[in-house]
Amino acid sequence: MDNRDFDTQRPRKKASRETIRKRQLIALCVIALLVLILILLIAKACAPSSKGGETTPTATTTTAVIITTTTDPALTTTVATTTTAPAEPENNSDFKLDKYVIELAVGGKDMPRVQEYPEGSGEWNENWSSSDENIATVDKWGNITGVAEGECTITLRDGLDTTQEVNIKVIVKGKSETASEEATTGATTEPQSADVGEAPAPSRINVAEAHYEGDTLIVNKTYSLPQSYDPGDLDPTCKEWFYKLANGAAKDGLNIYISSGYRSYDYQSQIYNNYVGIYGTETADTFSARPGNSEHQSGLAIDVNIIDDSFAGTPEAIWLAEHCWEYGFIIRYPENKQAITGYKYEPWHIRYVGSAISKQIHDMGGDTTLEELFGITSQYQN
Ligand SMILES: [Zn+2]
Repeated sequence: MDNRDFDTQRPRKKASRETIRKRQLIALCVIALLVLILILLIAKACAPSSKGGETTPTATTTTAVIITTTTDPALTTTVATTTTAPAEPENNSDFKLDKYVIELAVGGKDMPRVQEYPEGSGEWNENWSSSDENIATVDKWGNITGVAEGECTITLRDGLDTTQEVNIKVIVKGKSETASEEATTGATTEPQSADVGEAPAPSRINVAEAHYEGDTLIVNKTYSLPQSYDPGDLDPTCKEWFYKLANGAAKDGLNIYISSGYRSYDYQSQIYNNYVGIYGTETADTFSARPGNSEHQSGLAIDVNIIDDSFAGTPEAIWLAEHCWEYGFIIRYPENKQAITGYKYEPWHIRYVGSAISKQIHDMGGDTTLEELFGITSQYQN
């Protein structure tokens, strides 16, 4: 019985084991197929954001993630460049900002940096507005201030072509968020020089006629730039560090903004000739550069706030004189240096030179000029 049983059952057992194995194999194949499909689905779901031209929410969340999670500045820039394109459809404009989502504390301030303007436009055409001033306000220079907890949209519109507009999502949180927000976005900087870092020397320009002293481009009454040199905008490093400076001032409750940045040879020509017509050459030469001799053509000079004598002695002028060197800038035409620089005192005109030079000048008393530092002249030949 035992034997028979064993014998009769054996072949049956053998057969069922084989079918079980077969079934297991089929099941395994099915599972493998399902896993493959799942992987393909996940890959597909991730693909649109990198392909671009997708929905607005996708673009917004991508940008938001970068701002809130990335702490490595090197990473931020690499990721940011790949996501700038997908963020574009949301804005439907030629404006390019350094960020499209801002997290703020109540009372906190931030300023999105405009990296590109619609063609033919510039900072003078910026038109800022807030969808809800009870949540966040924005001034005409783009300084955003958190008012109360909530969300709203800040819009930057071009003053000339109002179809050109870009939106920034603003999330205002409770006061405790301030520290972490600042640490992650890096948009606001401490007024102390130690926290701002080293402002690099601007990149050298590729112009044979340009006069350099070390790494410092000299544009004054002796050294000029050719009419053909037309960078079209402020030097990017100069611009970047100006906004750090503006953020530093904002932290001290002051508003420092660009009133005149880059000026072309032709534009300077118009300005200068206009002054010559009003005041005559001798007087015009004391405050307005001849075309080719203006630092503004270099893209390394900025006139801030009020461009006249009334700016002197204002809290902003005092702050600028005290702190601009921390951001790589110098007051280019200090008081009582007209015989050296060739220009009367201009507390509003700052020149980007980078920390190495600005610190050196600061250590020498702050009102040292580039002419004194390098032992050069600033005089027209005729
Ligand atoms: Zn100026």
